[in-house]
Amino acid sequence: MLPGGELRLNAPVAIPDGTAFGDRALRRCCENGQHMPVPGELTLVAPRRAKPPRHLADLAPAERRAAVEELGHKGFRAAQLSTHYFTHHSDDPTTWTDFPAKHREALAAALFPRLLTPVRDIECDAGTTRKTLWRLFDGALVESVLMRYPDRVTVCVSSQAGCGMNCPFCATGQAGLTRNMSTAEIVDQVVAASRALDRGEVAGGPGRVSNIVFMGMGEPLANYNATAAAVARLIDPTPDGLGLSRRSVTVSTVGLVPGIAKLTNSGLGVTLAVSLHAPDDELRDTLVPINTRYPVGEVVAAAHEYFVKTGRRVSIEYAMIRDINDQAWRADELARVLAFAGPGAWVHVNLIPLNPTPGSQWTASRSRDEKAFVRRLETAGVPVTVRDTRGREIDGACGQLAAADLLDPEEQLS
Ligand code: SAH
Repeated sequence: MLPGGELRLNAPVAIPDGTAFGDRALRRCCENGQHMPVPGELTLVAPRRAKPPRHLADLAPAERRAAVEELGHKGFRAAQLSTHYFTHHSDDPTTWTDFPAKHREALAAALFPRLLTPVRDIECDAGTTRKTLWRLFDGALVESVLMRYPDRVTVCVSSQAGCGMNCPFCATGQAGLTRNMSTAEIVDQVVAASRALDRGEVAGGPGRVSNIVFMGMGEPLANYNATAAAVARLIDPTPDGLGLSRRSVTVSTVGLVPGIAKLTNSGLGVTLAVSLHAPDDELRDTLVPINTRYPVGEVVAAAHEYFVKTGRRVSIEYAMIRDINDQAWRADELARVLAFAGPGAWVHVNLIPLNPTPGSQWTASRSRDEKAFVRRLETAGVPVTVRDTRGREIDGACGQLAAADLLDPEEQLS
């Protein structure tokens, strides 16, 4: 987990004492006038805000050609620009020696506006984990995290500034949704991480990004079009995109059933992670408020359909919250619910020790309860791993990012 204690993005609103499951808190607004949701309140439509400027990474390859021609250049220049960005991770026109010097600045201004401005980096794990706080063009703040392991480098990206899903254990959810991110704002987090690795800025020497998890701020399937286009940029072969393998890209969702269905039929073939956190509607309604729209049975059925259509094993995320969702009977119920959707190893459960957020009364499960939970799932034949405990004791204001550190998408492939 990440030592995120000092870094708060949207300072979470403490849920008042005794109201963890839903007394009505007063509506509050933070200083910039952003609406702060009351417990259980969902924001399904992103606030309308000014759009980020257009960037090359917003465009599919054919659109890039058209854009370059509109700017008065030959279409083949688009592929050169794509190579600079996606292969060399460069948006700096002074390095574009294959372009006449007189055209470089204008092209850069038109197709490479600055989208992400670093505010702060925090490193831990001897420099192999690096969390970056970014300011977007309109002042909104988001985070991304680069995590280097012996065999891979994972980047955890944000897909929205804030989040409208209001899960009460998640720091981001408490502060509401500022806006959707654009395709290029999502992609540029990965390109920035790639650039840092190229330059040897990350402990372990130069390297390459191998895995992406959409587990930063936001609900990626609530920003479906930008998410799907960003995935396309990540998996398109170079120079059109970054050339990552589709199975090494994980899209994590709170369980938006229509979004899961779209992803199923998209042909993108990424790894799907579903944040279940409870096997029964009564509890899930409170932990994951969107459950009141898309209950457990529908979410698990949609996840199973994803497996059937794509052949990709689905990951079920389950934050272990002491005395809330970690009872042995709930492990049995989880196994039952998953088996009801379909037989065999179509699914893998990732147990995530809760990373407590400021103001919340909840904490991670006791070790013995966690072990018992694992045993019950194993006995029922459900593949399960616990993402353990780097820095569990360190207060993490941004639980969902810390959780990404705990999920290893490769685990699901074996
Ligand atoms: N909105 C998406 C992706 C972002 S969160 C989703 O819900 O899946 C990524 C994961 O981190 C989710 O499983 C989320 O439930 C989990 N998470 C959020 N806050 C957490 C916390 N405090 N401790 C542990 N996991 C947390």
